[in-house]
Amino acid sequence: MTKQVWFITGASSGFGEAFAHHALSAGHCVVATARDIAKLQGLVEAAPDRVLAHRLDVAKSGEAEAAVKAAVARFGRIDVLINNAGYGVVGAVEETPDAELRALMDTNFFGAAEVIRAALPILRAQRAGAIVNISSMGGQMSFAGFSAYSASKFALEGLSEALAAEVAPFGIKVLIVEPGQFRTNLAGGAMRHMPANDAYRDTVGATREFAHTMHHTQQGDPLKAAAAIAKAIEAEHTPLRLQLGQDSVDAIRAHSENLLADLRAWETVAIDTRIDASSE
Ligand code: NDP
Repeated sequence: MTKQVWFITGASSGFGEAFAHHALSAGHCVVATARDIAKLQGLVEAAPDRVLAHRLDVAKSGEAEAAVKAAVARFGRIDVLINNAGYGVVGAVEETPDAELRALMDTNFFGAAEVIRAALPILRAQRAGAIVNISSMGGQMSFAGFSAYSASKFALEGLSEALAAEVAPFGIKVLIVEPGQFRTNLAGGAMRHMPANDAYRDTVGATREFAHTMHHTQQGDPLKAAAAIAKAIEAEHTPLRLQLGQDSVDAIRAHSENLLADLRAWETVAIDTRIDASSE
């Protein structure tokens, strides 16, 4: 396999750190980015000649461009861009203040969009590369208490689907990744709990509880996720979406079947909305 350059956001923890270790063990170079580069010290020590640690808070405008410039200055190219930085919010729509919703979108959606815009001129000039956007199984479906998180991931998926069509002619692949529960710090410090309103105890209460108890009980292995992503981007026919974990596969299959069942059940009503020829 030829040596690649992987550019990873949120490489200080969980998935991002695992993606970096996977790339290094495959002999690739890594641009590991994080809000606090002190947290990248272990990665740098693992392969000082193949790791560039660079500051990148994806919610801060302008930092993506600087990190991409530094990546190209050090390694000359970017082959795999992984938009991984993100966090979660748990709370009902009514419990989630506007500022929390906007801050989440700034990181999970606008942050990824800015990194993509910064990297695209490089990938287009190369006429090759892959953009991997870490969504979630919550990026295709949602449930009570995860509206904000799902909104940010649905937005990322919508952008990614259009992006895939736009950049395919340049030889650039786009992969949306939809993990189920993986053992990272997401359910620890990276999950923000909104102040509870008792009116939502019966609907959001279980989600709130689940978000606490899932920490360090998740079945998914981030290093195996990294290997699955590498396999998908190296495949001749890379899928647009890759689910990860039995939980994600089961939930998205059930959700897709429900969508189709609703479509079939309401198809006649849906199409009977055309302007009558007689009234034109
Ligand atoms: P972690 O909390 O372990 O890692 C999150 C990473 O994102 C950290 O490195 C964190 O940096 C970084 N981050 C957060 N905000 C910013 C920001 N503004 N700029 C740069 N980096 C930032 O959780 P995961 O590894 O699980 O999360 C990675 C991605 O995976 C997220 O997008 C998450 O939504 C997604 N995901 C995770 C699932 C799981 O079960 N683990 C399931 C589905 C999706 P810092 O160290 O500075 O806090």
